[in-house]
Amino acid sequence: MISLRDIKKCYTGKQVTNWVLRGVSLEVKEGDFLTVMGPSGSGKSTLLHIIGMLDECSSGKYLFKGTDVMALGEKQRAELHREHIGFVFQAYHLIDELTVYENLETPLLYQKVKGADRKSRVCDILDRFNIVGKKDLFPSQLSGGQQQLVSVARAVIASPSLILADEPTGNLSSKEGEAILRLFQELNENGTTILQVTHSERNAAYSKRTIELLDGTIIAEQVTA
Ligand code: ADP
Ligand code: MG
Repeated sequence: MISLRDIKKCYTGKQVTNWVLRGVSLEVKEGDFLTVMGPSGSGKSTLLHIIGMLDECSSGKYLFKGTDVMALGEKQRAELHREHIGFVFQAYHLIDELTVYENLETPLLYQKVKGADRKSRVCDILDRFNIVGKKDLFPSQLSGGQQQLVSVARAVIASPSLILADEPTGNLSSKEGEAILRLFQELNENGTTILQVTHSERNAAYSKRTIELLDGTIIAEQVTA
């Protein structure tokens, strides 16, 4: 599904060039469940954003389901993202002007899911995430943990074939966090490919494979299950 070859990413400042990814090669097969670990600043979010087509790399090759992502225009890349990927942002990125209900509806609108079906799917997910009572609130009226729950719910609602989750449980209670990981596990058992960034060994234990990033390179890889 995902093939990364020697991916490099730098940010160029006035004086210095900061290499954030220094040649990352990675294969992720359909149905995989991969954890990315590593200290803060090691490039985890950058890698996830590149895989999610939200950011471009400086050099290297990226194939997604056989498509050369770097050869696509911005619009085609956005379409590919919307069709296949559910993304949980580290900083949630909910749309401030929309209610919880409307935020959850957005991916379904992109997928042109019809009205009645859309409504039932939003209601199901509100129920599953125990946030029915929050549906008419705006993101600013929620706690960090509640925003994180909505952000995870939005990423899974349209049944994407790939879920990219950047520290998806960082602001949740351990009980809520475990519920999210159990949901990921269930989705993965039903064929969804998952990449998660986490600092938690407990979260990592749900995945099949763990890679460790340090200073923009993969320094270790291990099979978890
Ligand atoms: P992690 O998620 O592992 O904590 P990040 O991928 O967020 O790491 O960041 C890796 C490095 O890239 C950090 O040193 C960060 O400061 C730098 N970086 C990330 N985004 C930008 C940006 N837009 N401009 C400049 N530097 C950035
Ligand atoms: Mg990060």
